[in-house]
Amino acid sequence: MVSFEILLMQLIYLFYMISGVRSNYRTFILILLLSAAFVGSAGNLTNAASLTRASDTEEVEQSDLENKREVTAAVKSDELANAKFVFFDVGQGNSTLIVGPNKEVILIDTGRYDNYLIFKLLKQEEVEKIDLLILTHPHADHIGNAESIIQSYAPQEIWMNGDKHTSHVFERVMNAVHESKTGYHVPSIGKSYKIGAFTLKLLHSSCGSNDLNNGSMAFYLSYGQVTIFFTGDIEKAAEQAIINGGLVQRVDILQVPHHASSDSSHDFFLRRFNPSVAIYSAAEMNSYGHPHKEALTRLKKVAKKVYGTDMNGTIKIMTNGVNYEVVVERSEERKVMPSKII
Ligand SMILES: [Zn+2]
Ligand SMILES: [Zn+2]
Repeated sequence: MVSFEILLMQLIYLFYMISGVRSNYRTFILILLLSAAFVGSAGNLTNAASLTRASDTEEVEQSDLENKREVTAAVKSDELANAKFVFFDVGQGNSTLIVGPNKEVILIDTGRYDNYLIFKLLKQEEVEKIDLLILTHPHADHIGNAESIIQSYAPQEIWMNGDKHTSHVFERVMNAVHESKTGYHVPSIGKSYKIGAFTLKLLHSSCGSNDLNNGSMAFYLSYGQVTIFFTGDIEKAAEQAIINGGLVQRVDILQVPHHASSDSSHDFFLRRFNPSVAIYSAAEMNSYGHPHKEALTRLKKVAKKVYGTDMNGTIKIMTNGVNYEVVVERSEERKVMPSKII
């Protein structure tokens, strides 16, 4: 545009320089100048057209990107209806429900032994059967209601890590497992399992040391492009072992290890998984002081949002396998997060 203006000024200057020539020549030169001006503006129009094409090209690239996202999804796009992940408020314990688009149901841990909130919560979510029950480790705040859950819902499959505990709660759970005839399965580290539309990949499990928290099963659960990392009650030793295991990837959501205790969620661990959302489970005013301040500080440095069942009640994540929405029980806050943040 600037170069065209300079050209026009030069032509006008030239016209006045030769204005002394005969009038019929002046008319001829004026026509020449007007033609030059027309060609100049036509040049500008050509530029405008090429700008439009440039933006068209951007749109094409954008849709190409979208196509690529579909191609890289873990499940086919036609399988990606809504799924939900429900982090139950079961007081000082853990329990998370996962329901897929074809009503496939996974339950991870069953709350604590001294309350029965889990049954009310499962009813609220209209759960009628459980396909896979995962008990991350044998502590009573994770397997609390597993005996009754196994008897009432008869899960198709039960995963345990092979660790044993001397508690009565654990004994009763093992009796229920054996009576169910389902038995239990110890999944293999590094292997991917397909459960309906979900893919589970185990990163860590007990090595038989009887360090029950550090023996918790830790695994990715993916739905399309959305990945949640479940960590049970792992502490520093398991966090280090997981990093050393070399199966690290960025995750969208982290189930915060060990109720956001200070002996877990170390910087070296969180930085490698880089979650957008972190969710811990703890009772309000619990005797352990969970969540510990140090853990919360470290989590807030990495995650864009940290939720806790003590503050937010039951926390529900709805996802179509690409994006997800976090809905909390005890707040007006509703936030839509893209699954991939560059
Ligand atoms: Zn626990
Ligand atoms: Zn534990």
